[in-house]
Amino acid sequence: MTGGGDGGTGGGRTARSHGRKSIAATRRPRDLIGDPDPLAGVWTAQVLTLFPQAFPGVLGESLTGRALREGLWALDTIDLRPFGVGPHRNVDDTPTGGGAGMVLRPDVLGAALDQAASRARGDWPVIYLSPRGRRFDQAQARRLARADGVTLLCGRFEGVDQRVLDAYDIDEVSLGDFVLTGGEIAAQALIDAAVRLIPRVLGNQASTEEESFSDHLLEHPQYTKPAVWKGRAVPDVLLSGHHANITDWRRAMAERLTKQRRPDLWRAYCDDHDRDPEEDQEL
Ligand code: SAH
Repeated sequence: MTGGGDGGTGGGRTARSHGRKSIAATRRPRDLIGDPDPLAGVWTAQVLTLFPQAFPGVLGESLTGRALREGLWALDTIDLRPFGVGPHRNVDDTPTGGGAGMVLRPDVLGAALDQAASRARGDWPVIYLSPRGRRFDQAQARRLARADGVTLLCGRFEGVDQRVLDAYDIDEVSLGDFVLTGGEIAAQALIDAAVRLIPRVLGNQASTEEESFSDHLLEHPQYTKPAVWKGRAVPDVLLSGHHANITDWRRAMAERLTKQRRPDLWRAYCDDHDRDPEEDQEL
């Protein structure tokens, strides 16, 4: 069997020994101070994928990219292909019991997961990106950012053999109620959400405290210059220079938006703040 549409041999790419490719931080002298190996202690995402060339992808841009280059976090991709079996390095086979598509083999994934485990340390969850998983949210992003790192298994085709999930006690995490063709985009989303919470990755830490979900609230509307655009003026209060009024207005808007759009978040917020979710709002 060949790999369901991906060409069983990995498209002629040269396979490194066991597929590890490190997208390592640049080792600037500054990073070496007090830490002989800057990668040893840094938050690391290990990604098991058939498409290592898809990384760092968008994570290499902007703030996450700069933080990666500065060694504030690290990314290791582990190519699944070299763990494949037979001369064609097959990683998948037909579903036992019949049905469409292909399933990633447990022996192949197990060998790759063993390699990932040899590099993991401390608090290091192993996650399979999967539409059947618990929905990813900001609270989990915070927990992941506090861990030492994470190993992410990206599925393809019909997914992975159940036994590997059971044997390695892997947590299934979903990006939402839709089906992607592979776990790579989901992995990048999850890494992005976690990495931006690592201290110093965003220049301005305050922005992660005030943004959506930080207090069960969606964020208030944002405005910038020009003050009038296409006949639409920004709200007067934001130009008033009166900081207490601005804070009150923003909170009221955040509450109103949350109540309108996300009754689930609104109830959690009211519980936390001892408020009646049905109470009439000003504004
Ligand atoms: N047959 C599976 C879908 C497989 S989609 C099912 O019906 O549940 C192929 C791969 O894409 C999955 O193995 C998973 O890694 C990834 N994927 C698809 N949708 C996803 C989602 N909503 N969240 C996270 N990963 C997803």
